[in-house]
Amino acid sequence: MQITAAVVNERSGPFVIDTLDLCEPRADELIVRVVASGMCQTDLHGRDGYFPSPYPAVYGHEGAGVVHAVGAAVRGFAPGDHVVMSYPWCGDCANCRQSRLNYCLNGRALKMGGTRADGSTLLSRNDAPVYGAYFQQSSFGTFALTQARWAVKVRNDAPLELLGPLACSGQTGAGAVLNVMQPDAGDSIAVFGVGAVGLSALMAAKIAGCDPIIAVDVHAHRLALARELGAAQAIDHKTCSDVVGEIRKITDGGVRYAVETSALPAVFREAIESLLPGGTCILLGSARKGTDVSLEMPFLQQGRVVRGVVQGDSLPKEFIHKLVDLVVDGKFPIAKMIKFYDLADINRAADESTAGITIKPVLRMPH
Ligand SMILES: [Zn+2]
Ligand SMILES: [Zn+2]
Repeated sequence: MQITAAVVNERSGPFVIDTLDLCEPRADELIVRVVASGMCQTDLHGRDGYFPSPYPAVYGHEGAGVVHAVGAAVRGFAPGDHVVMSYPWCGDCANCRQSRLNYCLNGRALKMGGTRADGSTLLSRNDAPVYGAYFQQSSFGTFALTQARWAVKVRNDAPLELLGPLACSGQTGAGAVLNVMQPDAGDSIAVFGVGAVGLSALMAAKIAGCDPIIAVDVHAHRLALARELGAAQAIDHKTCSDVVGEIRKITDGGVRYAVETSALPAVFREAIESLLPGGTCILLGSARKGTDVSLEMPFLQQGRVVRGVVQGDSLPKEFIHKLVDLVVDGKFPIAKMIKFYDLADINRAADESTAGITIKPVLRMPH
């Protein structure tokens, strides 16, 4: 079938709206009419050649929409169902066999390889292949193809065009807090970088009853939103000369938990140094291969834990339901961080996201 999609034709080139052909679904696949798709830093990293995936390509991995067609063997989905498309996993590797799907050993190839696992492409233009299958969905288009096992059916009364970001930034930030940290009410937390991932962690910390919640960022409007969403303290990294000292002062010695989303080594180190003995720092920022950080060994000896987390350690078919319920109940007000753009304005969405003006761009698809 013909679709309209945003294609990147060469490394770091602009998104170009074009007409492409999407293949028929295989037995275990769905075609989803995309209503809206979030845009994540990882999409722009794909555009800019961070991963060895070929061009031309279609990105997008936070798609929400309506099931349009189902493969012959698909159970549990029917045309008309509302779905969120989440991250892919293989189901066969050592981690998938233990339901640690977010650490699938083939996850990276499935997300960034540009094709299905068997090397086949989903899209073409004038019979020439167009890569994509980004996170096995490529949601920057009017229709997307994914396997049923990676899609999550969501309740019909939830605001579908807000739900795409739950597939990546939402579950990454909220899952780090609710699935990994599992803080007690009254535990202190600092969130370094309050973009879409950091604010999702912050909203989850508020749900968990963390106190105080401290936000650190370089953009005043993001700090203002962090306060509105539950941060008791907001530290402007541009004007504060001693962020760690400030956090120790606010918390009487340090925080129990820290979340790092900037992927900057100096900030990661500050997040770790702001911890109490026995505290935990979770790295969520997506750093480029080869990025090093140095830590003081005596500091870690004091029981401090530093770890990375992918996709919030969440099983999407369970956790996205939980987040959708929280959105409907007004406890996870994701709309406050979203700015909508038409697909045709995707380059402006990307620029305003990179500049920090827009926290979470969501593209509305033309239908
Ligand atoms: Zn796997
Ligand atoms: Zn993402």
